[in-house]
Amino acid sequence: MKIEIIPCLSDNYSYLVHEERTNTVSIVDPSDFSTCDEKIKKYNKLDYILNTHHHADHIDGNLKLKKKYNSKILGFGLDKLRIPGIDISLKENQKYKIGNLEFEVIFVPGHTKGHIAFFFRKEKIVFTGDTLFSLGCGRVFEGTHKEMFESLNKLKSLPLDTKIYCGHEYTKSNLKFCLAYDKENNLLKQKEKRVEDKLRNNLPTIPTTIEEEIKTNIFFKCDDPSIKQLLNLKTASDDKVFSKLRDLKDSF
Ligand code: ZN
Ligand code: FE
Repeated sequence: MKIEIIPCLSDNYSYLVHEERTNTVSIVDPSDFSTCDEKIKKYNKLDYILNTHHHADHIDGNLKLKKKYNSKILGFGLDKLRIPGIDISLKENQKYKIGNLEFEVIFVPGHTKGHIAFFFRKEKIVFTGDTLFSLGCGRVFEGTHKEMFESLNKLKSLPLDTKIYCGHEYTKSNLKFCLAYDKENNLLKQKEKRVEDKLRNNLPTIPTTIEEEIKTNIFFKCDDPSIKQLLNLKTASDDKVFSKLRDLKDSF
């Protein structure tokens, strides 16, 4: 499974997935037709388009790509009216094969009501859209904070060495927020240098891993006593801590 990261628009990532054995070409969240097509052209085919959610910056390439390559568009059934050109309506926990690659649908509502992540268990790769970012998580637009918290927990429970490919390059600003509330975290400080190096060289900070996020992403540390204390939420439940952190991040 070969993954090519395609930077689109100002800070989006689309991902081109090539499965070499059956020469199956897929794209996750095509933000923009022309930018994505520049990369697809070399294969002269696009079998599948996978959408994590219905927002414009994740689906704008759908119809033009489908028209050019006669691709099949896969999205969550609940959002079939909001995902342009959808051919295959996926269900929660459904397994689906693209060429030799099998993914599982993880239902992760919160950012939107029908948001899903694509988990390739064998390859240990997950595409998380705008639910989980490197050092952050998406804004809660359509769901509740509790839903978002539970969705993040589903992702947190994936194998530690799972690689995370997310929808945006937000790592640097996320890192600033994490540092503001998790000051003593040495791993976070070490990560700051690596992130700045990559960005200076115009490289993506993606992928990250579940293990790295558990150690550094503050939204994965809602059960951490020192963070609870700092927020004056010593006895609060973890999901209340999540809500507080998400609110603080919204106005950070
Ligand atoms: Zn979005
Ligand atoms: Fe987005």
